[in-house]
Amino acid sequence: MKVLLANPRGFCAGVERAIEIVERAIELHGKPIYVRHEVVHNKFVVNRLTKMGAIFVDDIEDIPEGGVIIFSAHGVSQSVRNSANALSNTIYDATCPLVTKVHKEVLRNQKKKHGVVLIGHQGHPEVEGTLGQSSEGQHIHLVEDVEDVEGLFFNQDIDLSYTTQTTLSVDDTQLVVKALKDKFPHINGPKKNDICYATQNRQDAVKEIMKYSDILIVLGSKNSSNSNRLMEIAINMNKPSYLIDGADEIQKSWIDGINSVGVTAGASAPELLVQEVVDFLSSYGGGEVIEIDGIEESTHFPVPKSLRTEKNK
Ligand code: SF4
Repeated sequence: MKVLLANPRGFCAGVERAIEIVERAIELHGKPIYVRHEVVHNKFVVNRLTKMGAIFVDDIEDIPEGGVIIFSAHGVSQSVRNSANALSNTIYDATCPLVTKVHKEVLRNQKKKHGVVLIGHQGHPEVEGTLGQSSEGQHIHLVEDVEDVEGLFFNQDIDLSYTTQTTLSVDDTQLVVKALKDKFPHINGPKKNDICYATQNRQDAVKEIMKYSDILIVLGSKNSSNSNRLMEIAINMNKPSYLIDGADEIQKSWIDGINSVGVTAGASAPELLVQEVVDFLSSYGGGEVIEIDGIEESTHFPVPKSLRTEKNK
């Protein structure tokens, strides 16, 4: 059984920065520090940071006055930001800069009095944060799929713009954008879309390994949007695909009689977990491990200046 590793896979620049912000905040302020929502959607990462002294909360109201607060990589609404400001003077923003870019786009378009459409998944924290950028009285119209576009109506004379969640399926989003452009030919959008480089690259890499793999194993947590999108690529190719938090979840029946297994990791899953899967597969009949060539990523987002120390800039 061959084991094919997708490239690139695992941590993106936004996730690395968010984790580093939590680690450095604990180092600087001592524990506990309070993180609004899971800093990134990964069980292993959240458990490790919890052991170090991070407390993850869903509501700002659960944080004591004066506590050190960190916003997660998914970003927050203006109302969450205001509540945090009222509670504490020590706040670090781990919002991925690529999510902040989407927030700015929405605000710019609303300032121009455009009707704004957001393509994204209802209930995802990034989408809640982006919807919550809306200036008072201005509504952002959320669409998830082509059917939602059919139900959209605007006055003829209104200018329109669309933006997208950063971790969507590139292929599905193209269909939704096409439906928007067919229905509203004058709608404006970003040059490509707002799907981030890491999401795009990991999806391209999975398409490549699935040319040669019988099944796909994705390291990632069930609530990780970009990991779910990786799993769907293999399913759409009629190949079994499994999303797991660690090697201990692999069922032997998945790999019995299989010639080749593709392995990848979502943008919030550490490489250590991939290596544990490789070790498991090796102990269970896995032979050659092949790293498939892929795009080299060099994106890096620095942590806020206030968290940089002399020894660790
Ligand atoms: S997946 Fe993309 S948008 Fe999300 S944290 Fe990573 S780089 Fe940023």
